[in-house]
Amino acid sequence: MDKHVIGIDLGGTKIATCAIDKLGNIRGRKIVPTLASKGQDVVISRIIQCVYDLLNESNLNIDDVTAIGLAAPGPLDIKNGLMTNPPNLPGWKDVPIVKILQHEFKLPVVLENDANSAALGENLYGSGQGVDYFIYMTVSTGIGGGVVINNRILRGSTGNAAEFGHMVINFEGPICGCKNKGCFEAYASGTALARFARQGVIEGRKSILADMIDVEELKAEHVFSAAKKGDDFAMELVRNEGSYLGIGIANMANAFDPELIAIGGGLTRQWDMFYHQMMNTAKTRLFASKDIQVVKASLDSDAGLLGIAKLAWDFVDNSLKR
Ligand SMILES: [Zn+2]
Repeated sequence: MDKHVIGIDLGGTKIATCAIDKLGNIRGRKIVPTLASKGQDVVISRIIQCVYDLLNESNLNIDDVTAIGLAAPGPLDIKNGLMTNPPNLPGWKDVPIVKILQHEFKLPVVLENDANSAALGENLYGSGQGVDYFIYMTVSTGIGGGVVINNRILRGSTGNAAEFGHMVINFEGPICGCKNKGCFEAYASGTALARFARQGVIEGRKSILADMIDVEELKAEHVFSAAKKGDDFAMELVRNEGSYLGIGIANMANAFDPELIAIGGGLTRQWDMFYHQMMNTAKTRLFASKDIQVVKASLDSDAGLLGIAKLAWDFVDNSLKR
């Protein structure tokens, strides 16, 4: 049996796992809901059970596995293998997740930020193939990102670099999930778009959004569908969404001078609706006058799994060299 690594992508809504061989071929995958509200112990046992189910369903034994990679939401303490206090996993505080999984599976466990893992996966196997200076950004309920330079993740001194969602774009802006004011995420995430829509409806803006659904249930997808129907307020919200994204892109481009920026995440399902506004705004705010290349990420949710699996393989290779 060829050796495999297990990749785990732990999110606030789902736990995705897969077994991947050295060439990046996915042998099997298993996805279960996280049930984050049930707390840390339940989620950790769900991760472990998900891995055992994956092995069973893929006809693999634990002996066929050489390492485990865990892509987890930040902030992390990678040196000590801790998940510090992820906003979308309520109640988690300095959880020694690496030690817990090592103890369970008796295998080396590699921990990496989920957006960094997705950035590496997208760079190696997706839209960023062959790109030396690559930035990945994911836009869904929140905004995350990663920078990969010459196939290496830019981690920063504590492993928490490239948190693009928390660049402040307005020092008096709305409060973000991180408690800061005016973060990029508080303007450009899907959650923010829905919030702007709800605010408008509550303030009495004339819009079909008011009749589509109960105001508390209003989500980003409703805004896009109202905009497609020609609703003025929804179209204004979508234009603003494009502008906010463009400002974030210009900031990233000015700071890192990448060859390519790829955007993934749920909002990219509406790519054509905001692309032009996003690019127009970005181009007017670039410091250097060169063009910036921005594409839709191509791997969807596999990016994180492929990236973390590559890191697990790198770990195995490096230990063999030692
Ligand atoms: Zn923030």
